[in-house]
Amino acid sequence: MNPLNLSHAPVLVVGAGIMGAGIAQVAALAGHPVKLFDARDGAAAEAKEKLASTFITLVDKGKLTPEAASAAMGRVVSIDTLDDAAGVRLVVEAVVEKLDVKRSLFKQLEAVVAPGCVLATNTSSISVTAIANGLRHPERLVGMHFFNPVPVMKLVEVVSGLQTAPAVAQAIFDVSKAWGKTPVHARSTPGFIVNRIARPYYAETLALLQEQAATPAVLDACLRAVGFRMGPCELMDLIGHDTNFSVTQSVYEANFSDKRFVPSLVQRELVDGGLLGRKSGQGFFSYAEGAAKPALPAWVPAPLPTCRTLVVMGAGPLADRLAHSLHEGGRPFTRNTGAEWVGLSVDGAHLRQTDGRPATLMNNPDTVVFDWLPGTEPGAALACAPSLRATEAWQQQAQVWLRALGWNPVVLADAPGLVVARTVAMLVNEAADAVQQGVCTADGADAAMKLGVNYPAGPFDWLGKLGAPAIVQLLDALDAHYRGERYRVSPWLRMRVMAHL
Ligand code: NAD
Repeated sequence: MNPLNLSHAPVLVVGAGIMGAGIAQVAALAGHPVKLFDARDGAAAEAKEKLASTFITLVDKGKLTPEAASAAMGRVVSIDTLDDAAGVRLVVEAVVEKLDVKRSLFKQLEAVVAPGCVLATNTSSISVTAIANGLRHPERLVGMHFFNPVPVMKLVEVVSGLQTAPAVAQAIFDVSKAWGKTPVHARSTPGFIVNRIARPYYAETLALLQEQAATPAVLDACLRAVGFRMGPCELMDLIGHDTNFSVTQSVYEANFSDKRFVPSLVQRELVDGGLLGRKSGQGFFSYAEGAAKPALPAWVPAPLPTCRTLVVMGAGPLADRLAHSLHEGGRPFTRNTGAEWVGLSVDGAHLRQTDGRPATLMNNPDTVVFDWLPGTEPGAALACAPSLRATEAWQQQAQVWLRALGWNPVVLADAPGLVVARTVAMLVNEAADAVQQGVCTADGADAAMKLGVNYPAGPFDWLGKLGAPAIVQLLDALDAHYRGERYRVSPWLRMRVMAHL
């Protein structure tokens, strides 16, 4: 057993704001005596009162027994001075996100608590190594990064700084589990796991908006169609553009202005204009009373068109799905499983899955490309883009084919990699870099993205389904098109392709 076993240890939560109150709730329910402290007079007592009413609501909803609620409440005390915290064995800090404030708080705490007390910070973006600098015992400081709302979100990133003792990180890992959470080890690098790997989810959509490739409603619909609970635009509106922009900016600056993380002018303009999203009433969408979100036209099923020659090109799950639909619809077709691309050849015109190259750069002028990921729901939005050289007739006809095959086509400008394919490829790429740099394991990255931001799959789940060659091909095509550092392929991924792993 870890000598630092924190089971039922007395806990001090410093900072009784949104996160601190949630952490106190979870710790008290797990059986820990909890002391709550806040620098603002009366804030800790107010948080304790709010906690009592939260417990009453949970009892009313049948989620907690009255006995468990009153026992948990009996374990929480608010304190007026840190001197009253002597005797705790775990401190969880959730004060304002400022390095100097956190550093001086921990220095002050070192004078109060026993040498064996574990010090945890809930920082979402500050280096744990930097917070520990100047402490007498930097090895006992560790990140314990909860997600909001704490009682609901399962993920805890257990963040080790350069000097964090492995036993301390393990103690926080174990206690997080005992609190009903799913902990994941992370190394203290900018954005830790979730805030780093998630950057492309916002960045690719913002880049497409800057190119005028589609509207926010269309981009959101395409990503929701593959299982993301919220599209990037509505999610940024929810988070607040000021918050989202400052996280992007801090990851960018912390990476010495790596172009991969460069913030977006589109988002900066929203911030400059005070269009912060839900909290200001307007972001990409309006949140004014009675305002409706722009909706896409509903999917209208269409019969399969007729043609002279129909070939299902390529192999794999998408080619099989196309063949199955044509077979079900009674359309005669042949298969060319050796083709280098996946899609349909209809009387010589091409309807093909994007490989990252724009439709306009394909040899065949009559080309329409489309986005697809395993799991695209039937009837859901599916991005497609015609070549600038395609005949008007094929542009229209290709949409009829997509509708007949069970999707709701939405036309984008001819942006390479469309929206889902490029976003997923970039999420995988970022996760691959994180693993190579020892930030987390592949399993840790998958768990973190599914539990911390509710992704429908983890980046390594997608990698397993799509294969490294397809992802690298797509990223290389984006890199060739845009130039610059943004789409450079993770060496970890490139190695797997070269070694046929
Ligand atoms: P908050 O503003 O709701 O609460 C912060 C509290 O800390 C306030 O009550 C403030 O009075 C108190 N405080 C400030 N300085 C203090 C000090 N020196 N000593 C004691 N108390 C002090 O903020 P929050 O959203 O709860 O965030 C707290 C921490 O959690 C930050 O580091 C933040 O980055 C991190 N975090 C926030 C979220 C989120 O979604 N809000 C998610 C994960 C992590």
